[in-house]
Parts: sequence; C-alpha cells; structure tokens
Amino acid sequence: MSEQPGMPSASAGATVTAGPPAEGSPPAGREPVVARSREELHAARRALTDGDVAVVMTMGALHEGHATLIETARQRAAHVVVTIFLNPLQFGPREDLSRYPRTFDSDMEICRRAGVDLVFAPTPDVIYRDGDPGVRISAGPLGNVLEGQARPGHFDGMLTVVAKLFHLTRADSAYFGQKDAQQLLLIRRMVRDLDFSVKVISVPTVRESDGLAMSSRNMYLTESDRETALCLSRALRAGAAAASEGPSAVRRAARAVLVREPLALIDYLVLVHPATLEDVPEWYRGEALLAVAGRVGTTRLIDNLPILVGPQGGALEVFSDVESAGA
Ligand code: AMP
Repeated sequence: MSEQPGMPSASAGATVTAGPPAEGSPPAGREPVVARSREELHAARRALTDGDVAVVMTMGALHEGHATLIETARQRAAHVVVTIFLNPLQFGPREDLSRYPRTFDSDMEICRRAGVDLVFAPTPDVIYRDGDPGVRISAGPLGNVLEGQARPGHFDGMLTVVAKLFHLTRADSAYFGQKDAQQLLLIRRMVRDLDFSVKVISVPTVRESDGLAMSSRNMYLTESDRETALCLSRALRAGAAAASEGPSAVRRAARAVLVREPLALIDYLVLVHPATLEDVPEWYRGEALLAVAGRVGTTRLIDNLPILVGPQGGALEVFSDVESAGA
C-alpha cells in the first residue's frame, strides 16, 4: 500500500506500526475464541479480566482496512474483541444483504494474524431474540441526509446494533473507520447524547495503492468497474488540492473529475461541516468533509476526505477535534 499524492493513507500514519502490543494481548497468530451465542460471549468476556477491552465491529468480509482497525486497537488496548455480524436492520429491501460476501474462514485468518482475543459472530436470532426490535435508536436529523437520504432507516438500524454490541461486549473503547464518516459521526453523537461509557476512536481510511478506498463491496466490481471507481478518490484528491482557494473551488475541482467519468452514477458530492453535515458557505475556512457517493456497475460506493479549507489547505488524515488514531 503506498501513499497517494495529496491523499493521506492510514498505512503512512503511526497507527499501523506503533509500538509493542499492550500487556495482556495474545501474541499474533494465537487462535481467537469464537463465540456464537450470548452465553459463549459472556463466558469468554468474563475471562478478559486483566486490562481494558477494545471492540472492532464489522460485517465480515474483512480486508486490510478492518485489519488496520484491529491492529490499532491491539496496540492500545489489553484485549481486542471483533464482532462479525451482518445486521439485517441496516439493509433496505432493495439492498445487497443476500449477496453480501461471507468469508468467515479468511476473516478468522485476519483475526488470528492480528492477535484478536475474541470473535463474536452471532446469527440475527441471537442478536434479535424476539425478531425485529420494537424499540430502536433513532439517528435523528443527521441520519436523514447524505447516506441516510439514499438509504432510509439505515442509520437507525446501524445505531441500534452498535448500541446492543456495546452492551453485549462491555467494551471500554471502540475503533471505527473514517471511511464511513457519517456512521462515525452518528456513533459519536449517540455515545455523547445517550451517555454511553465507551471511548470512540477513529482510524484513517485505508486505501489500495491506486487510491481506491478499501471496502468489502469492492469484491463486486468487475475489472472495468474498478477502473471507473477510481474517479471517486481522484475527485477527492482534486478537491483537496484546491482547498486553499475556498469551498467552491474544492467542489468545482472534484466535480470536474467526476463529469469525465460518465459510467460512475454520482449520487452526491458535498463539502460539508464535519459536525453538522451542512454545506459549508463560501466564506468558510477550517475543517470540512468532502464526501462522495455513487453507483459503479451494480455497486454503490462511498468515499470521503477530511480537508482543511483555507490558506494552508489540503487533505487531513482525520479531524483534529476528535479522538483518533491518526498521525
Ligand atoms: P464494515 O464491515 O464495512 O461494516 O466496516 C467495519 C468497520 O471497518 C467500520 O468502522 C468501517 O468504517 C471500517 N472500515 C471499512 N473499510 C475501511 C477502510 N478502507 N479503512 C478504514 N476503515 C474501514
């Protein structure tokens, strides 16, 4: 994985290569305990007594982006729990739940390599004992824009399972990727608004050497789709390169890349405030989120770049005012 010009890569940060594992972690290569039921989870969790516990929540089909989250967690916490759960609540009726890749054996290989203590891989009936939960977390207005507009109910379903997994794993800290910027923001808001006692830590987006953000959904891309998909990260880089000239220059530069790729059906390209997700006005100077979503072939892809708009403008690894594992 190499660093992209004008685009920070997580592999370049201190996050991936930082010091020795925290005391208490199993050596990389040891077999993680696998829990399928609540009882198995509780028994295995009770055994993690000597030190703090970090959780990395995933939907499986693990790749180097997930591995970086896990490795970052392992460098900072005594124990790491990985959850692998394809949450039906966050998929709409016309979305890709049934075709979502399921690769448990290679997921376990990554967990083994990264020194995970415990893998919780339940089926939906374990998580939702009485079927669809009548009581759910509401993401509120921030859940209705951008991804929420394209995927109604997605963030309510996501937050509901994240809340449940916080309770079930009793984690002290949780690591989430900047790749899913709106999800990360909403999880931070839920933790703050509902007084969860867990520390949320963000990890910069991990990219392929050509700039494509790693995603489980990249498995759906044909070779030519993949070529097309590169316009998303290219657009973000072009936008970041114009950051010293102000918001409309950023949007214009990014859009100019996207219009040259008619096979990418762009849903949105926005430059928004990182906390409110509202478009930043032309006079704005400071940190902003440049985010893009679109369909390539049959696959919906998202990507984003935190940027600094202003005289010293350009791409950032992560936002400065949040706890992160960025450089
Ligand atoms: P998912 O399995 O797609 O739900 O992702 C699980 C976690 O991995 C989320 O916190 C994602 O933001 C994070 N993640 C996914 N892809 C990447 C990536 N390319 N770089 C960093 N984190 C990622």
